Amino acid sequence: MSYSPKVFEKIKAQYEEAQLRVREEQERNIRQVREKIPGMSEIDDRLAATGVRIMDAIKNNRPGGIDAVRAENEELVRKRSALLRAHGYPEDYCDPHYTCMRCHDSGFENGRRCICMKRALFEAQAELSGLGALLKKQSFDNFSTEYYPDKEEAARLVHFCRKYAEQGVKQGENLMLMGATGLGKTHLSTSIARLAMEQGQSVVYESASNLFADFQYERFEKSRFDHSYDSAQKYFEADLLIVDDLGSEFSNQFTVATLYNLLNTRLNHQKATLFNTNLSAKELTARYDRRITSRILGEFTVFTLEGQDIRMQKLGLL
Ligand SMILES: [Zn+2]
Repeated sequence: MSYSPKVFEKIKAQYEEAQLRVREEQERNIRQVREKIPGMSEIDDRLAATGVRIMDAIKNNRPGGIDAVRAENEELVRKRSALLRAHGYPEDYCDPHYTCMRCHDSGFENGRRCICMKRALFEAQAELSGLGALLKKQSFDNFSTEYYPDKEEAARLVHFCRKYAEQGVKQGENLMLMGATGLGKTHLSTSIARLAMEQGQSVVYESASNLFADFQYERFEKSRFDHSYDSAQKYFEADLLIVDDLGSEFSNQFTVATLYNLLNTRLNHQKATLFNTNLSAKELTARYDRRITSRILGEFTVFTLEGQDIRMQKLGLL
C-alpha cells in the first residue's frame, strides 16, 4: 500500500504522540503510588534489582540461580498487586495502558503494519480525499441494480467500475459517468474512490464548483505573500481525481481554461480522472471548448446511466 506523504506524516505523528502519552501516564501513576502507598518504593526498587539479577544469572549461565530470583520476583509482584488493591488501585495501575494491545501503539506487529495502523491510514486518506462521510455509507457492496430498467446492463457497469478501481486507476485510465440526477453516479464514484484507496491509491473527490473555487482562490484571491499550501495542487497530484457534477459550476473563460489545463496535465502524467455529470455529450460540447470535449470523449470511457431517479423510486414517488 502506498499513501500520500501527508497522510503518512500525520499518522506517524499520531502514533508518536500516543506512545508519549502512555509513557507519561505510566510515569505519573508510578510516582503517585510511590508517594501515597508506604512500602511501595521499596518493593519497586527490589523488583528492579531482581530484574538485574535475572539478567545476570542468564548471562552467567546459572539456571539454579535463575529459579530462586524468579521466585523472589514473583513474590514481590504479588505483594505489589496486593498493596495496590489494598489502597484502592487496580492491579495494573502502573502498567502502560496501550490503546492497541497488538502493537503497543507502535503501529507495527512483527515488523509489519498493525491492523490499527492500516485502519488509521485508510481513514486519514479518506478524510483528506474530501469524502469521509460518504465513504462510510456507500460502497459496491450496497449498490443495488434493482432500480434500473436494464438490470443486466447496470450489473455490467458495476462490474466495470470495480475493475476500474482495482486496475484502471493504476493504469491512469479515465472514466465519465453520464446520466440524469439520482441514478447512482455519486454512489458509483464513492465506491470507486473507496476501493481505489484500499488498493493504496491517493484519491481526491470534489464537486466541480468547489474545485474551480479553489483554483480561483489560488489564482486571484490569495495574497502573493501567503505561502501556505496551494489548495489546488492536490487536483494535479492525486492518483485518482473525481470531479462530481461537472457542469454545475458557474462557467466562464477561466473555468474552461482551468479545466483544459488540469485535464491535459493529468493525461500527460497518466493519472486517472473520473467525471460525473448530468449533462449530455451535446450539452458538454456547447458548454466547454471543443478541444476539451473532444479530449474527454476521446480519452475517457463514457457510460450513460439510464432510468428514473432512484431516490424518488425508493420513496414510491414514481
Ligand atoms: Zn496496533
